[in-house]
Amino acid sequence: MDQPLNPEISAVIPLMDEAGNVAPLLAALKPVLAGCSASYEIIFIDDGSQDGTLAALRRAHDEDSRIKVIALSRNFGKEIAIAAGLDAVSGRAAIILDADLQHPPAAIPAMVALWRQGYENVYATRASRDEESHLKQFLTKRFYHIFELLGETPLPHGAGDFRLLDHKAVQALRAMGERARFNKGLYSWIGFRSIGVPVAFERRHEGRSKFSYRKLTRFAFDGLMSFSTLPLKVWTYVGTLISTASVATALYFLARTMIFGVDVPGFATLIVSLLFLAGVQLMSLGIMGEYVGRIFAEVKGRPLYLVSERLGLAVEPDRGPLPPRATES
Ligand code: UDP
Ligand code: MG
Repeated sequence: MDQPLNPEISAVIPLMDEAGNVAPLLAALKPVLAGCSASYEIIFIDDGSQDGTLAALRRAHDEDSRIKVIALSRNFGKEIAIAAGLDAVSGRAAIILDADLQHPPAAIPAMVALWRQGYENVYATRASRDEESHLKQFLTKRFYHIFELLGETPLPHGAGDFRLLDHKAVQALRAMGERARFNKGLYSWIGFRSIGVPVAFERRHEGRSKFSYRKLTRFAFDGLMSFSTLPLKVWTYVGTLISTASVATALYFLARTMIFGVDVPGFATLIVSLLFLAGVQLMSLGIMGEYVGRIFAEVKGRPLYLVSERLGLAVEPDRGPLPPRATES
């Protein structure tokens, strides 16, 4: 089939070690895209897979040139893989979805219909998280709670990466160079005409979730710290409170000593307050370190990701030829 140069819709799919999911996903996704768009492309971002994912993608690309692949040079994480995908899309709209079929392609036509009505940021809202463990559900809830408390950016409930973005929104996201990426926040931060569509998420088709609790914790910190400076500022208030309390205590002891004379000093009180203060100080220093580390990462200005191979995407987007090599004279 002849493909126009710019497809109407670009699907963006980050994946890591999903060899077994590529074929079933394509089988489900292609008819849906064909049914609801004039033309489409599917861009897979191989986020440093160690299994046969890249080989499966290569086969898919050979069979159908609308399937395009960006292979990153190593695992950069889902957030950055999505950024790499958005850098490469050429459609009027991009649809981001997971490779494990948890994001049902059947929901796409409704999202496209809303886009045609003028919405530019159409997100699937997850009705329930029943398929996840209780602990994960609990921690997720706590995270959203804290984010809401701290954040200046609201996060729509149940909204994630499964969404359709108009090319205007895609361009807005492309303009964001931050490394500590928290896409959920960015999608909300960019604004545009937004609407949620309730979608029943499926169970993962094959394999296991790629997000360990460790990774999720890291991710949660990235999210909180790239959208709020309150964790930095709160120590001013904590410090003020503790100082005020200590002055009051000092005055109390002074008065007591003057009235009743010196008594046996409270050894326990001393140790407890010492430990408490040391803890508070280290904690605030640690928070400071988290931010400084992130500033350091941003300041280094390394590229967000490195590509080892592109299939069907010959030109590197938004980048001219390499500058001439500097020579010493
Ligand atoms: N993924 C990725 N890079 C990673 C981890 C995950 O591209 O470092 C992809 C993964 O292959 C899948 C999507 O991101 O397509 C969602 O991952 P997963 O299903 O493991 O997360 P969960 O659904 O448990 O949140
Ligand atoms: Mg999943």
